[in-house]
Amino acid sequence: MSSVCDVCGKRPAVVYQAHTGRKLCRECFLNDVRARAIREIKRWRMFEEGDTLLLGLSGGKDSYVLLDILARTHDPGKIVAVSIIEGIPGYNREEDIDRLRRVARDYGVDVIVTSIREYTGHSLAEMVLRAWRRKVRVSPCTYCGISRRRILNMYARMYGARRTVTAHNLDDEVQTAVVNLLRGDRIGLIRLHPLAPPASPLIVPRVKPLRKVYEWETATYAYLMGFPMQETECMFINMAPTLRARVREALYQAETVRPGSLLRMLEALDTILAPLAVEAPRDALGRCSRCGEPTSPSRSLCKLCELLEKAGVEKPVYSHLFAGSTIKSGPTHSGGEG
Ligand SMILES: [Zn+2]
Ligand SMILES: [Zn+2]
Repeated sequence: MSSVCDVCGKRPAVVYQAHTGRKLCRECFLNDVRARAIREIKRWRMFEEGDTLLLGLSGGKDSYVLLDILARTHDPGKIVAVSIIEGIPGYNREEDIDRLRRVARDYGVDVIVTSIREYTGHSLAEMVLRAWRRKVRVSPCTYCGISRRRILNMYARMYGARRTVTAHNLDDEVQTAVVNLLRGDRIGLIRLHPLAPPASPLIVPRVKPLRKVYEWETATYAYLMGFPMQETECMFINMAPTLRARVREALYQAETVRPGSLLRMLEALDTILAPLAVEAPRDALGRCSRCGEPTSPSRSLCKLCELLEKAGVEKPVYSHLFAGSTIKSGPTHSGGEG
């Protein structure tokens, strides 16, 4: 690209932003992404100045973008970052996480490193193998997602965080919305909305500041900032749920034909779902009869205890680290259920 930036009209353009039809220089592109994240934070009042935030960082490119944007706008002393090692052979996360730690330290943020094994007693690979040996077909991504979500929530409670912040981008968010629609999961779709309250006082509300930023934009942002781009690929990636993989592909096609499709779709969903989200019940979940964590009122075991049971672990040893954190009252929340 040899022309000048459409925004400042001075510096050379280095990025073509298809959904706006603009050519942008490095600075104007970075500012545009930051502004979109900050606008989203303010629009939904995701958190306030002085709130303790629990950041879930995987070590992938989106993590760095989230860390960079948050550390510029929020007191780093109020940010607690947690990175979870899944425990998958050949997936050398230690190196990724060391790098993440070094970068985070430059922003004044410490990263707590933990693992699925530390919390449940079994690494992801062990759990999956145990289930398969018992001829139980469970997607590794389900185990992984449920364990990570639980661990982040436990840390958020332990640190008295007001919000859990994750680096999900626009592509992730729209994929999840479409998958929920295709499954007819009305509640899941509504719960995705930023105004939906947590379904239990034991759940620290989760927010996603990058939900209006395309995945290609987080990749470009990471590249322009000199953040690590190389992401170790998980060996389970090809076993990812086929539906999500197909949806991802279809959405990618739509975006290519009509740039901005994903953004417009999420904007429309935000508007349509807002009145339903604010009405969503706050105390919709019961307690797991085994671990005491939230579970749907129709089942006695929570999803994690159920998955562990399928893998033959009937007495899970959840980390002593969080002993007692189940009886603490929930986080203070703008709705005041705590
Ligand atoms: Zn510019
Ligand atoms: Zn449980």
